[in-house]
Amino acid sequence: MNVLVAGGAGYIGSHTVAALEKTAHKVVVFDNLVKGHVEAVSEQVLLIEGDLLDADFLKHVLVTYEIDAVVHFAASSLVGESMERPEEYYRNNVLGTFSLLGAMKSAGVDKLVFSSTAAVYGEPASWPIEETFPTTPTNVYGRTKLAVEGMLADYARAYDLQYVSLRYFNAAGAAEGGNIGEDHAPETHLIPLVLKTALGQRKAVQLFGTDYPTEDGTCIRDYVHVDDLAAAHVLALDHLAKDGGSRVFNLGSEKGFSVREVIETAKRVTGVDFAVEERPRRAGDPAVLVASSAAIRRELGWQPQKSDLETIIASAWAWHQKHPNGYAE
Ligand code: UDP
Repeated sequence: MNVLVAGGAGYIGSHTVAALEKTAHKVVVFDNLVKGHVEAVSEQVLLIEGDLLDADFLKHVLVTYEIDAVVHFAASSLVGESMERPEEYYRNNVLGTFSLLGAMKSAGVDKLVFSSTAAVYGEPASWPIEETFPTTPTNVYGRTKLAVEGMLADYARAYDLQYVSLRYFNAAGAAEGGNIGEDHAPETHLIPLVLKTALGQRKAVQLFGTDYPTEDGTCIRDYVHVDDLAAAHVLALDHLAKDGGSRVFNLGSEKGFSVREVIETAKRVTGVDFAVEERPRRAGDPAVLVASSAAIRRELGWQPQKSDLETIIASAWAWHQKHPNGYAE
């Protein structure tokens, strides 16, 4: 298929583009380059600079490149920021997808893979979390992604649209070779912050919350390697190519690690005994988020290959060592 990857210059998008390059699919990247990096996309791939909100241009791109399917990563994705700037999140995430769906509809493109999030579950009553659990997001980011999932279900019912929505847990790690990786500004995620501290770029890791109802008092998360996420997108496209029908899947390793365990593993992998400062809880953080990924394993045959914590951290460490300032040299 001819595949348009919206947000293909971002973190998960660029790893998916690299995975798609190894398949028979033809890839075109569409990115407004506000958060994405030109350097994250190989020179072999056509990168079109544009914004999802420009539906006319988007339609022109879909028609010109005879696009069969869209993989849609383009979104604002920081929980804390979403609480302070909800308008931006509703515009980029909800209106952006609305515009994309309109362009797809008028260009006759009927297949979509959508980046959703574990944040749609809010504070779950138990775990592992299954797709049928209640969706009661506790932050604006999760609410915008859930709003889009509703829109997709409604369009799929009424029009020719088939979609796969992938609810990511904690994406981490970097591609082998250390050439592409995570580079957010500002960085807020645990693993890159820990590794920047190990590199000496930061004084200490701040540990948010030590009084959670978990064994060591810190939050438990399900970390999944970005290359395993990328592989799931390829499987989702193959499923849509076969007219397999619309689906919503969790994507996690199904293993939970506490913040202290992540810090200890990072100290072991890097060999650096960096400083850790204990801080109060960060607003909006649920205590435990661990996925059941049984549905995507069963239905699409997804098998995570790199999602043990040591491999995730070692691959991210290789990227940060090679690119201490991210893509900016
Ligand atoms: N965290 C932390 N210090 C940091 C960043 C994150 O203790 O500097 C904690 C955070 O409270 C959460 C976990 O690490 O429990 C993972 O946070 P991250 O922002 O990486 O991902 P999220 O779970 O928010 O998507």
